[in-house]
Amino acid sequence: MALRPCSAHRGRFNGPAESVYPAVVVGVDSERSKLKMCPRCFAAYSDTVLSKLTEVSDEDYGLDFRDECFWGREPEAPDNRLFPVFVTWYPRGLPRHDAYAQICAKCLRDHGQELLEPRYAAPGGASAGK
Ligand SMILES: [Zn+2]
Ligand SMILES: [Zn+2]
Repeated sequence: MALRPCSAHRGRFNGPAESVYPAVVVGVDSERSKLKMCPRCFAAYSDTVLSKLTEVSDEDYGLDFRDECFWGREPEAPDNRLFPVFVTWYPRGLPRHDAYAQICAKCLRDHGQELLEPRYAAPGGASAGK
């Protein structure tokens, strides 16, 4: 098993990576990234980002999405537009997961990095116990 750096804590780790593909569509542009995270960072990402999302499956065709920001629950407003967010992730040993949501301009500015380019502290820091 090759050692590769984790997208989030930037350190190398042993074992398979968890793949997450977040994307935000802003007008005709889309910002997307391909994250390969160690299990520890993936757990942190699940807590901060994935837990806020509603998963969709093929059977959910026609599901009614509320016009609100998934991060801060703000409704759409003239001065706070909503942008579509798509996240696909591949938990190990499980089928592909998809989520669709919207994020407001304010949260995208404040939390876009947490969504697209998360940075977590390397293991072995303050609370390194098992
Ligand atoms: Zn990591
Ligand atoms: Zn928001």
